[in-house]
Amino acid sequence: MFFRRDAKAVQVAARLAQTAYRDGSSALGPKLATMRSGEVTPRAVVVGFYRHLDDAMGVLRLGTACQSGCDYCCYYRTVASPMEVFAIREHVMSLDGPERERVFDQLAQNLETIQPLTPDQHNETNVPCPFLVSRHCSIYDLRPVACRRHHSVDVTPCNAAFHDPRTSDRCPQFPEHLAIADGYNFAQYVELREHRLDARVYELNAALHGALSDPTAYPRWLAGQRAFPDVSDVQKSPRRI
Ligand code: SF4
Repeated sequence: MFFRRDAKAVQVAARLAQTAYRDGSSALGPKLATMRSGEVTPRAVVVGFYRHLDDAMGVLRLGTACQSGCDYCCYYRTVASPMEVFAIREHVMSLDGPERERVFDQLAQNLETIQPLTPDQHNETNVPCPFLVSRHCSIYDLRPVACRRHHSVDVTPCNAAFHDPRTSDRCPQFPEHLAIADGYNFAQYVELREHRLDARVYELNAALHGALSDPTAYPRWLAGQRAFPDVSDVQKSPRRI
Protein backbone atom coordinates (compact mmCIF):
# COMPACT_ATOMS: atom_id res chain seq x y z
CA MET A 1 0.00 0.00 0.00
CA PHE A 2 1.35 3.43 -0.88
CA PHE A 3 1.25 6.02 1.85
CA ARG A 4 0.51 8.79 -0.64
CA ARG A 5 -1.05 7.97 -3.97
CA ASP A 6 -1.38 11.46 -5.36
CA ALA A 7 -0.18 12.04 -8.91
CA LYS A 8 2.72 14.25 -7.85
CA ALA A 9 4.16 11.57 -5.53
CA VAL A 10 3.95 9.01 -8.34
CA GLN A 11 5.69 11.39 -10.77
CA VAL A 12 8.44 12.08 -8.25
CA ALA A 13 8.84 8.33 -7.65
CA ALA A 14 9.16 7.63 -11.38
CA ARG A 15 11.89 10.26 -11.72
CA LEU A 16 13.71 8.93 -8.64
CA ALA A 17 13.56 5.38 -10.01
CA GLN A 18 15.24 6.48 -13.25
CA THR A 19 17.99 8.31 -11.38
CA ALA A 20 18.42 5.37 -9.00
CA TYR A 21 18.79 2.97 -11.94
CA ARG A 22 21.49 5.16 -13.52
CA ASP A 23 23.35 5.66 -10.22
CA GLY A 24 23.03 1.99 -9.25
CA SER A 25 24.48 0.89 -12.59
CA SER A 26 27.48 3.18 -12.27
CA ALA A 27 28.05 2.08 -8.65
CA LEU A 28 28.02 -1.60 -9.54
CA GLY A 29 29.02 -2.14 -13.18
CA PRO A 30 32.78 -1.38 -12.99
CA LYS A 31 33.15 -3.45 -9.79
CA LEU A 32 31.74 -6.61 -11.33
CA ALA A 33 34.66 -6.98 -13.72
CA THR A 34 37.12 -6.90 -10.80
CA MET A 35 35.01 -9.43 -8.92
CA ARG A 36 35.00 -11.80 -11.88
CA SER A 37 38.79 -11.57 -12.13
CA GLY A 38 39.08 -12.42 -8.41
CA GLU A 39 40.48 -9.03 -7.31
CA VAL A 40 37.56 -8.38 -4.98
CA THR A 41 34.89 -10.53 -3.37
CA PRO A 42 31.10 -10.21 -3.62
CA ARG A 43 31.03 -8.80 -0.10
CA ALA A 44 33.31 -5.87 -1.07
CA VAL A 45 31.16 -5.22 -4.14
CA VAL A 46 27.79 -5.23 -2.39
CA VAL A 47 28.98 -3.08 0.53
CA GLY A 48 29.86 -0.25 -1.91
CA PHE A 49 26.62 -0.75 -3.82
CA TYR A 50 24.51 -0.68 -0.64
CA ARG A 51 26.29 2.48 0.54
CA HIS A 52 25.15 4.26 -2.63
CA LEU A 53 21.62 2.95 -2.16
CA ASP A 54 21.48 4.01 1.50
CA ASP A 55 22.79 7.48 0.59
CA ALA A 56 20.13 7.84 -2.11
CA MET A 57 17.38 6.85 0.32
CA GLY A 58 18.81 9.00 3.11
CA VAL A 59 18.55 12.16 1.01
CA LEU A 60 14.76 11.78 1.06
CA ARG A 61 14.62 12.09 4.88
CA LEU A 62 11.30 10.25 4.96
CA GLY A 63 9.92 9.65 8.44
CA THR A 64 9.29 5.92 8.64
CA ALA A 65 8.02 4.09 11.73
CA CYS A 66 10.93 1.62 11.58
CA GLN A 67 13.07 1.54 14.72
CA SER A 68 15.92 -0.50 16.13
CA GLY A 69 14.46 -3.57 17.86
CA CYS A 70 11.30 -3.69 15.72
CA ASP A 71 11.58 -6.98 13.86
CA TYR A 72 8.11 -7.82 12.51
CA CYS A 73 9.34 -7.81 8.89
CA CYS A 74 12.23 -10.19 9.67
CA TYR A 75 9.76 -13.11 9.69
CA TYR A 76 8.73 -12.49 6.07
CA ARG A 77 9.88 -14.50 3.08
CA THR A 78 12.97 -12.68 1.79
CA VAL A 79 14.79 -12.89 -1.53
CA ALA A 80 18.27 -12.03 -2.76
CA SER A 81 20.45 -12.17 -5.88
CA PRO A 82 23.33 -14.69 -6.02
CA MET A 83 25.79 -11.82 -5.49
CA GLU A 84 24.02 -10.85 -2.29
CA VAL A 85 23.84 -14.47 -1.14
CA PHE A 86 27.56 -15.06 -1.75
CA ALA A 87 28.36 -11.85 0.16
CA ILE A 88 26.35 -13.17 3.14
CA ARG A 89 28.10 -16.52 2.80
CA GLU A 90 31.45 -14.75 3.25
CA HIS A 91 30.11 -13.20 6.43
CA VAL A 92 28.87 -16.54 7.80
CA MET A 93 32.20 -18.21 7.11
CA SER A 94 33.96 -15.42 9.03
CA LEU A 95 31.86 -15.97 12.18
CA ASP A 96 33.29 -17.72 15.21
CA GLY A 97 32.22 -21.32 15.85
CA PRO A 98 29.19 -20.87 18.16
CA GLU A 99 27.66 -18.03 16.15
CA ARG A 100 28.18 -19.91 12.89
CA GLU A 101 26.56 -22.96 14.49
CA ARG A 102 23.58 -20.83 15.53
CA VAL A 103 23.09 -19.62 11.93
CA PHE A 104 23.39 -23.18 10.58
CA ASP A 105 20.88 -24.50 13.14
CA GLN A 106 18.33 -21.76 12.39
CA LEU A 107 18.83 -22.29 8.66
CA ALA A 108 18.20 -26.03 9.04
CA GLN A 109 15.03 -25.39 11.06
CA ASN A 110 13.81 -22.86 8.51
CA LEU A 111 14.41 -25.19 5.58
CA GLU A 112 12.40 -27.91 7.27
CA THR A 113 9.53 -25.45 7.72
CA ILE A 114 9.55 -23.91 4.25
CA GLN A 115 10.43 -26.89 2.05
CA PRO A 116 6.80 -28.16 1.80
CA LEU A 117 5.44 -24.61 1.31
CA THR A 118 4.72 -22.74 -1.89
CA PRO A 119 6.08 -19.16 -2.02
CA ASP A 120 2.56 -17.87 -1.26
CA GLN A 121 2.24 -20.20 1.73
CA HIS A 122 5.69 -19.13 2.90
CA ASN A 123 4.52 -15.50 2.68
CA GLU A 124 1.71 -16.45 5.05
CA THR A 125 3.99 -18.14 7.58
CA ASN A 126 6.23 -16.47 10.14
CA VAL A 127 9.75 -17.84 9.70
CA PRO A 128 12.53 -16.03 11.62
CA CYS A 129 15.43 -14.93 9.45
CA PRO A 130 18.59 -16.82 10.48
CA PHE A 131 20.28 -13.44 11.02
CA LEU A 132 17.73 -12.13 13.47
CA VAL A 133 19.40 -11.99 16.90
CA SER A 134 17.67 -10.46 19.95
CA ARG A 135 15.25 -8.62 17.63
CA HIS A 136 18.11 -7.05 15.64
CA CYS A 137 19.58 -7.78 12.23
CA SER A 138 23.05 -9.25 12.77
CA ILE A 139 24.04 -8.51 9.15
CA TYR A 140 22.67 -4.98 8.96
CA ASP A 141 25.39 -3.69 6.58
CA LEU A 142 24.94 -6.75 4.37
CA ARG A 143 21.16 -7.08 4.39
CA PRO A 144 19.83 -7.51 0.85
CA VAL A 145 18.03 -4.85 -1.18
CA ALA A 146 14.73 -6.62 -0.35
CA CYS A 147 15.24 -5.77 3.33
CA ARG A 148 16.41 -2.22 2.58
CA ARG A 149 13.35 -1.70 0.40
CA HIS A 150 10.92 -2.74 3.11
CA HIS A 151 9.72 -0.05 5.52
CA SER A 152 6.51 1.14 7.08
CA VAL A 153 4.91 4.44 7.88
CA ASP A 154 2.84 2.89 10.69
CA VAL A 155 3.77 -0.02 12.96
CA THR A 156 0.13 -1.04 13.66
CA PRO A 157 -0.40 -3.04 10.43
CA CYS A 158 3.09 -4.59 10.82
CA ASN A 159 2.07 -5.82 14.26
CA ALA A 160 -1.27 -7.10 12.89
CA ALA A 161 0.45 -8.95 10.01
CA PHE A 162 2.88 -10.56 12.44
CA HIS A 163 0.06 -11.89 14.62
CA ASP A 164 -2.02 -12.91 11.61
CA PRO A 165 0.30 -13.45 8.62
CA ARG A 166 -2.73 -14.18 6.39
CA THR A 167 -4.16 -10.72 6.89
CA SER A 168 -4.57 -8.61 3.77
CA ASP A 169 -3.38 -5.55 5.70
CA ARG A 170 -0.12 -4.29 4.30
CA CYS A 171 2.34 -1.84 5.77
CA PRO A 172 1.79 1.66 4.30
CA GLN A 173 4.93 2.71 2.44
CA PHE A 174 6.45 5.74 0.71
CA PRO A 175 6.44 5.39 -3.11
CA GLU A 176 9.68 7.40 -3.30
CA HIS A 177 11.51 4.93 -1.04
CA LEU A 178 10.20 1.95 -3.03
CA ALA A 179 11.15 3.62 -6.33
CA ILE A 180 14.77 4.13 -5.29
CA ALA A 181 15.14 0.56 -4.03
CA ASP A 182 13.51 -0.81 -7.18
CA GLY A 183 15.78 1.37 -9.37
CA TYR A 184 18.89 0.00 -7.65
CA ASN A 185 17.57 -3.53 -7.72
CA PHE A 186 16.85 -3.33 -11.43
CA ALA A 187 20.33 -1.86 -11.99
CA GLN A 188 21.77 -4.85 -10.13
CA TYR A 189 19.80 -7.24 -12.34
CA VAL A 190 20.88 -5.52 -15.58
CA GLU A 191 24.54 -5.27 -14.58
CA LEU A 192 24.73 -8.94 -13.54
CA ARG A 193 23.19 -9.90 -16.89
CA GLU A 194 25.63 -7.59 -18.74
CA HIS A 195 28.45 -9.53 -17.07
CA ARG A 196 26.79 -12.82 -18.04
CA LEU A 197 26.10 -13.77 -14.44
CA ASP A 198 22.99 -15.48 -13.12
CA ALA A 199 20.74 -12.61 -11.98
CA ARG A 200 17.78 -14.67 -10.78
CA VAL A 201 16.21 -13.76 -7.47
CA TYR A 202 16.26 -16.62 -4.95
CA GLU A 203 14.52 -17.27 -1.63
CA LEU A 204 17.19 -16.38 0.92
CA ASN A 205 17.21 -19.47 3.19
CA ALA A 206 17.33 -21.99 0.36
CA ALA A 207 19.93 -20.07 -1.64
CA LEU A 208 22.16 -19.51 1.37
CA HIS A 209 22.00 -23.20 2.18
CA GLY A 210 23.12 -23.87 -1.42
CA ALA A 211 25.98 -21.37 -1.12
CA LEU A 212 27.18 -22.84 2.18
CA SER A 213 26.82 -26.53 1.38
CA ASP A 214 28.01 -26.66 -2.22
CA PRO A 215 31.63 -25.52 -2.81
CA THR A 216 31.02 -25.51 -6.57
CA ALA A 217 28.22 -22.92 -6.31
CA TYR A 218 30.43 -19.80 -6.43
CA PRO A 219 32.75 -20.94 -9.26
CA ARG A 220 29.68 -22.14 -11.14
CA TRP A 221 28.07 -18.70 -10.79
CA LEU A 222 31.29 -16.97 -11.93
CA ALA A 223 31.30 -19.28 -14.96
CA GLY A 224 27.91 -17.87 -15.93
CA GLN A 225 25.78 -20.80 -14.85
CA ARG A 226 22.82 -21.00 -12.55
CA ALA A 227 24.09 -20.44 -9.02
CA PHE A 228 21.54 -22.56 -7.12
CA PRO A 229 19.97 -25.08 -9.50
CA ASP A 230 18.26 -26.99 -6.67
CA VAL A 231 16.33 -23.99 -5.35
CA SER A 232 12.74 -24.07 -6.59
CA ASP A 233 11.60 -20.76 -5.07
CA VAL A 234 13.22 -18.52 -7.65
CA GLN A 235 12.19 -15.63 -9.90
CA LYS A 236 13.78 -14.92 -13.26
CA SER A 237 14.07 -11.21 -12.52
CA PRO A 238 13.25 -8.79 -9.72
CA ARG A 239 9.64 -7.88 -9.35
CA ARG A 240 7.96 -6.15 -6.49
CA ILE A 241 9.44 -7.79 -3.40
S1 SF4 B 1 18.68 -9.97 6.68
FE1 SF4 B 1 18.41 -8.68 8.53
S2 SF4 B 1 16.81 -7.18 7.92
FE2 SF4 B 1 16.71 -8.87 6.43
S3 SF4 B 1 15.15 -10.30 7.24
FE3 SF4 B 1 17.18 -10.98 8.01
S4 SF4 B 1 17.40 -10.05 10.04
FE4 SF4 B 1 15.78 -8.92 8.94
